Parts: sequence; C-alpha cells; structure tokens
Amino acid sequence: AKADGRDMARFFDPSMQNEADRRAAFELAMRDGLSLGEFRLFCQPQFDGHGRLVGAEVLVRWQRGEHGLVGPDDFIGFAEESGLILPLGEYVLEESCRALARWERDPVLACLKLAVNVSIHQMRDSDFPAAVATILDATGAPPKRLCLELTESVFAENMQEISERMYALRSQGICFSLDDFGTGYSSLAYLRRFPLSALKIDRSFVHDIGIDPASGSIVEAIIALARKFKLEIVAEGVEHEAQRTFLVHGGCSSMQGFLLGRPLPMAEFEHMYGAAGAG
Ligand code: C2E
Ligand code: CA
Ligand code: CA
Ligand code: CA
Repeated sequence: AKADGRDMARFFDPSMQNEADRRAAFELAMRDGLSLGEFRLFCQPQFDGHGRLVGAEVLVRWQRGEHGLVGPDDFIGFAEESGLILPLGEYVLEESCRALARWERDPVLACLKLAVNVSIHQMRDSDFPAAVATILDATGAPPKRLCLELTESVFAENMQEISERMYALRSQGICFSLDDFGTGYSSLAYLRRFPLSALKIDRSFVHDIGIDPASGSIVEAIIALARKFKLEIVAEGVEHEAQRTFLVHGGCSSMQGFLLGRPLPMAEFEHMYGAAGAG
C-alpha cells in the first residue's frame, strides 16, 4: 500500500499548513494509538470448495477516537514510510499468536490456519526471524498454524537475503503465501526461489470473472501454474455465487470474500466460528 495524500488528508488538522507538521502529527497519533491499544485485529474466514472453514486472515484496523474505525489503506502506507510498520507489525503478529494459542482450546478453531500480512519492511529486518521465534515461544502459538502473507514486492528485493530469511522462518514451521498474485512483479522464474505454500489470486481478477473473459482465463492460468508448483490457491474478494462456482470448478483450494464471511473483530470471529459459537 502506498501513502495517499488524499486518503490521509481527512485526518489532518486543517490548521496545520505544513506537510512536515502534518506528518509529524499523524506519526504521533499512530504512536499514541499503539501504546493505547487502539489497533484492533479483525479476522476474515476462509473456506474450501466444500464450504468447510479452513482458515482466516488477520486484517488490522485503527479504532481512532472521534475519527472512528480507520481501515489499513489509510495508515499502512504511512506506517511503511515512517518505520512505524515495525512496531505495528510486531503488535499484529503478537496478538495473532495470542489468538492462535487461545484457539488451541477450541476443537473447531484449533484446526485453522491464521494468515498474517507482513510488510517487506519487516522481512528486510535481519532480526525478524528471531523476533517471530520469541513471540511464538512467549504466546505458546503452534507455528504450523501461522502463515505469513507477502506481496510480490519481495521479488524486487535482495532475493538471496529474503529467501534465506524465509527458510529460517519455515524451519520454525511457519508457511508463506504470496498475496495479490498477478498484480505486481510476477516474475514466474522467481516463484521457485522462495519457499511458498500458497498463491493468493488478487481480488481484481476474481471481481472480473464472468465480466471480462480474459480475467477468467487468468484465474485458470494461475490455478494451473499453482498446481505445477505444488502450491495451494486462495482466491480473495469472492462476492458472488457465480465467482465461487467458477473457482470451485477450477480447482481453487480455498476462498475468502464478502459472500462467505466479512472480516469481524477477533472476539466476534471466535464467537461466530468457534465450537461453542453461533455457528
Ligand atoms: P489484502 O491483504 O489484499 O486484504 C484483503 C482486503 O480485501 C481487506 O481489506 C478485506 O477487508 C478486503 N476484502 C475481503 N473480502 C472482500 C470482498 O469480497 N470484496 C472486496 N471488495 N473486498 C474484500 P482491508 O482490511 O481494507 O485491508 C487492505 C490491505 O491492508 C490488505 O490487503 C493488506 O495489504 C493491508 N493490511 C491489512 N492488515 C495488515 C497488517 O496487519 N499488516 C500489513 N502489513 N498490511 C495489512
Ligand atoms: Ca493479505
Ligand atoms: Ca490480497
Ligand atoms: Ca491488496
């Protein structure tokens, strides 16, 4: 995500004329938000082709006082530019691992994989694998339930370094998916240089299934490619039954989207989908 001046503009104090002042104020607000626990984890369910719950993705939001609930597109880009993504990312990972540890006591939730978005800035940090190990240890989360989502921006990085870091994390039992597949640097040759378990088909392709024949073909091609590389396929942004049917027939292994379940606050997710829950 890129920091977008227009998106962020509505959060700025209009009396601050100076861009640098506005950014400093926003950074301070984010730091305060972090220390006040204003960042909240939401969770969106993922289902296989038979409609069975198989996993969930963590999506962060900011419960920011009078501004209400702020979505990640309005602060992740800024967090990346300012370096705040490191403490924010660590917070999200820690809370996600706390959830995984809780889920161990629930017969339904204990079987789920939990996907957590990780910024390339976190992957660039040589201390990241050790920090993850510490969090897993401290929370008691089972590493094999944790899946980290990276975007194709990893292909633009020092590949040797990033791939070593990924192998170090994988040796702890963690797996990786490649998010927003097909929208960035889709250098197919690079796919096998990284220890990936899944590709996530970007929701722009899913959106256009049945509208633009080319999108259907792209989705089919990505599924075929994933098969060749022995990768799982997760389709995101499934909003209509026709999209779901197309994906199931195409052999997509798991799906996520408003049709199947919206992102819910963590506690609500646990209530709704846990064994003792609402169903
Ligand atoms: P993403 O990883 O591609 O996440 C999926 C986005 O699609 C989420 O938006 C989700 O709410 C939305 N979505 C889910 N189902 C549907 C659907 O059926 N239709 C449509 N139109 N949208 C759907 P959200 O929560 O606003 O997150 C936006 C982006 O912010 C995420 O995109 C991810 O790149 C980033 N993000 C979210 N949480 C984190 C985090 O903890 N760390 C980092 N680094 N990035 C995060
Ligand atoms: Ca994601
Ligand atoms: Ca995505
Ligand atoms: Ca995205």
